[in-house]
Amino acid sequence: MSEDILIKNLRNIPDFPIPGIQFKDVTTLFKSPECLKILSDSLYEMYKDKGITKVVGIESRGFIMGPILAVRLGVGFVPIRKPGKLPAEVIEESYKKEYGTDSIQVHKDAIEEGDVILLHDDLLATGGTMEAACNLMRKLKPGKILVNFIIELDQLEGRKMFDKDIDVQSIIHVKD
Ligand code: AMP
Repeated sequence: MSEDILIKNLRNIPDFPIPGIQFKDVTTLFKSPECLKILSDSLYEMYKDKGITKVVGIESRGFIMGPILAVRLGVGFVPIRKPGKLPAEVIEESYKKEYGTDSIQVHKDAIEEGDVILLHDDLLATGGTMEAACNLMRKLKPGKILVNFIIELDQLEGRKMFDKDIDVQSIIHVKD
């Protein structure tokens, strides 16, 4: 099974960046030509018939498979970035982190009204980052939002953060 190949190649770094966190290092998937092809093919199969008109990636690990998928779907790619990075007019969404708050931004003209948006990031943990990205996108009135992760940490139940009308899919599921 191709998912097993991904799980076997995913590097886990215990206690990074702080004690208690099991950090999933996706760079070991990106450096393997076999895993990169599985990722690209899995994403394409998941989304080829969903009418996606834009792939939106979250800084920074959403910037790797996001554009690869956009090319395969024949649609454009839009980056969501941390404050101060995007040069034109932006809209912003703030969200609570474990300690303090954080913000994300997107160009105001990046999305057309009615776009079918696929939001992509490498990993779903608590879901706070992606929920903020959904809220940011809603301000631009898309027709529909779908959400995708390479890895989902099932035990954190991050998918509970999303409204029922949002299609949330992950390529691989891991326990912790
Ligand atoms: P969250 O908002 O809690 O779902 O966190 C998701 C973001 O934090 C993603 O952009 C991930 O890249 C990163 N992240 C959170 N937990 C981990 C982890 N255990 N391993 C790798 N990245 C993580």
